[in-house]
Amino acid sequence: MEKVVIIGTGPAGYTAAIYAARADLSPLILTGAQPGGQLTTTTDVENFPGFPDGIMGPDLMVKMQQQAEKFGARVDYKKVDLIEKNDDGSFTITIGSEKILSQTVIISSGASARYLGLEGEEDLVKGGHGLTACATCDGAFYRDVPVCVIGGGDSACEEADFLTKFASKVYLIHRRDELRASKIMAKRAINNDKIEMVWNATIAEYIQAENGNIRAVKLENTVDGSFSELAVEGVFMAIGHTPNTQFVNGLVDLDESGYAIQVPGRTATKTPGLFAAGDVADTFYRQGITAAGQGCAAALEAEKYIAELEA
Ligand code: NAP
Repeated sequence: MEKVVIIGTGPAGYTAAIYAARADLSPLILTGAQPGGQLTTTTDVENFPGFPDGIMGPDLMVKMQQQAEKFGARVDYKKVDLIEKNDDGSFTITIGSEKILSQTVIISSGASARYLGLEGEEDLVKGGHGLTACATCDGAFYRDVPVCVIGGGDSACEEADFLTKFASKVYLIHRRDELRASKIMAKRAINNDKIEMVWNATIAEYIQAENGNIRAVKLENTVDGSFSELAVEGVFMAIGHTPNTQFVNGLVDLDESGYAIQVPGRTATKTPGLFAAGDVADTFYRQGITAAGQGCAAALEAEKYIAELEA
């Protein structure tokens, strides 16, 4: 019987692991399909405290893993299929034909940014060639060059607005002629002189320069099917996230988008012994450091829960 199983290895999972390991709980971390989480898909991370010169996203995650392992956390490269609650209050975690028993489970499986599904997207993201889903993380790399944001929701408007601090021009490309965003956010974007709305359009292709960096996008008009080219050096995807909660099996309440619902102000969920931390439960901040904070909180809550069981 494990004491703590942590599902997911982003900043929430590794921080939970560091705290649980230092509390002598010898946590088992199951990495999921994307070891290291979303930060492994970014290049320079300049807003994680403690790294005044920035740090590469994958390097940051390796350091977190090393720190967790140094204190006795065990990392296993597996993807969870299902969690179940047993009659004695423990949990069974199913991975294919394997079953793991644990007193507590911390779900820190994150959320995956959605992309358009066009050819070459993974290489563009991983190579830092101009495609990203995080303006807060990457906006500062696009000073004085034109960029575009894809989407029509609050995230798209907020990111477009934020990017005007850096970019020479921001095109907000939306597939319809009306924004989904709240009125106040939409108004702010539309009234911003540095933002130009591109209605009824979607990206058909990323056009790369010789060094692989995006230099333009081929746009398809969603009304008449015509094509045009738009010169941009950065493409910011803001078409929503998909939280990774497919395996929770009713043990955690989910909101209408599939995000885990926590007990207000806590990382506890409706099931005792089951905690949720980081982007899997965060529709608002979605930052590495906020996820790390929640990972810490979840480990402290799990430690307290186990102490009460054993009292
Ligand atoms: P969202 O509201 O679901 O909007 C996603 C946008 O992407 C929609 O405009 C959608 O177009 C577009 N889209 C989806 N799939 C697409 C595709 N394949 N191709 C092109 N466009 C596509 O997501 P969000 O903006 O990330 O917001 C998520 C939640 O967080 C919302 O509840 C939002 O209010 C909240 N949020 C709040 C704030 C804030 O208050 N400060 C900031 C950010 C987010 P359609 O409109 O045509 O469907």
